[in-house]
Amino acid sequence: MTPGSPSVLLIKGGRVYDHAGNVDLPEIADILIVDGTIAAVRPGIADALARNEKVPELGARMIGATIDAADKLVIPGFVNAHYHSHDVLLKGCFETIPLELWVLSALPPSYPKRSTAEIRARTLLGAIECLRGGITTVQDMATIYPFDEEHLDAMLQAYEDVGIRCVFALQIADVPGAKSIPFWDEVIPADHRAALSGAVEPYKNINLLSLVRDIEASRRNRHPRLTWALGPSSPERCSDELLAGLAALSADRKLPVYAHIYESKAMTLIARQTHARDGGSLITYLKRVGLLTPYLSLAHSVWMSPREIEALAEAGTNVVLSPVGNLKTRSGVAPIRSYAARHVNVGLGCDNCSCSDAQNMFQSMKMFAALPGVCHPEPGPPMAVDAIWSATVGGARTAGLEGRVGALRQGMAADLSILDLTDPSFVPLNSVARQLVFTESGRGVETVIVDGRVVVRDRKVVTIDERALRREVADLMKPLRKDIDAVVARNNRMLPFLMEAHRRTWATDIGLNRYVGDGTG
Ligand SMILES: [Zn+2]
Repeated sequence: MTPGSPSVLLIKGGRVYDHAGNVDLPEIADILIVDGTIAAVRPGIADALARNEKVPELGARMIGATIDAADKLVIPGFVNAHYHSHDVLLKGCFETIPLELWVLSALPPSYPKRSTAEIRARTLLGAIECLRGGITTVQDMATIYPFDEEHLDAMLQAYEDVGIRCVFALQIADVPGAKSIPFWDEVIPADHRAALSGAVEPYKNINLLSLVRDIEASRRNRHPRLTWALGPSSPERCSDELLAGLAALSADRKLPVYAHIYESKAMTLIARQTHARDGGSLITYLKRVGLLTPYLSLAHSVWMSPREIEALAEAGTNVVLSPVGNLKTRSGVAPIRSYAARHVNVGLGCDNCSCSDAQNMFQSMKMFAALPGVCHPEPGPPMAVDAIWSATVGGARTAGLEGRVGALRQGMAADLSILDLTDPSFVPLNSVARQLVFTESGRGVETVIVDGRVVVRDRKVVTIDERALRREVADLMKPLRKDIDAVVARNNRMLPFLMEAHRRTWATDIGLNRYVGDGTG
């Protein structure tokens, strides 16, 4: 027998959530983890070992560590399928301002270039917040502006060091942000226009297609828990040539693609104004350039028309909903019931740290399940189990990771969270599924395991010195606060013009209304 190894782990006697099992009162079982993979999930493994009986899945290995999960709930790790690490340090900076104003206030193109130390610190801090809330996979659609390879590598290394699984996409666009917002050209005076920017700005003198091809090719196997995706910011911010090139790259390399779409009414109106060739539809545009495939995931999808939802269903394209961020940016409510009715795969995300402002999938699940109530008085989907499914399997599917993460099954990666069932959220225990979605806030997450490695123990991340990171962040905030103040002051000077552009957008009929939910479009 080989000596016990920390890569062999036994979780003993917890209630193990199985999407296809008893979701109200999951069975008590043991989970055997060998070299990062779930080797077995069943009752009696610990008892057999105590009796010195052979456990076939263990072979000649010995248990390196045992976690007693009595009175605990074991759930698959969440997949935060829409997130950006670039504004982690701006949480709590903004009220519920409209999306286009928030973009100008929060995103990298408005700020001076940051230090590599700040990039690493904010990446770590965001990942820690995710992990402590039971998120084991995060899709970071990161803006690095201006682009700097050292910043990219600092981010990738931070993800490796903290131990979270990451699906990384560099957010890119080749249409200036100011061109993608309705009425800005008309109402913003010329002397303010230089300050206008979108979520991401085109890089100067860099071929975007070559860049994303090269960074993926040169780093594809460098980090064990990191996989790659493509990140065109949103269709209206990208040229035909760029999107067609990304479609070819996605097909060639089997890479997932994440893009924003129809988050706000303005993002929808600009499509009507600038994409006449495609009937004003960004879905038609995506189809024409070859991107409307099962590899594509469309974040937000709030102002999607019924006809476009049909097209998504036909193409097998995914959506990733971020309901909390949509509310905080006054963007409206996605047609959640329509996606469910058409069996469109839905992942859930938490979006930016300064527009939601929490990396908390419990909030996302609760909103996802509850929001259809603003427009559908009759009960119906999504139910609590659907929210859990979207927060795990649905998100994994967007990343091409279904079958590897999102469920606690033999052969899958050991990405999971252990929650305290003695927390008031679960007392009395009436339904694990409904209490996970409607009652739990994240307080009960005690232990988090990614790839078979304990990364959160007793509610603390053990891979990074959190206290040292807090001190570092405090130092980094001194110059950043000055920059935030300057950006906010600049935007305040433009506010009357920005609000005029918004009012014109809000006053324009685009045949859809998402301020009361599903509408009839
Ligand atoms: Zn986003």
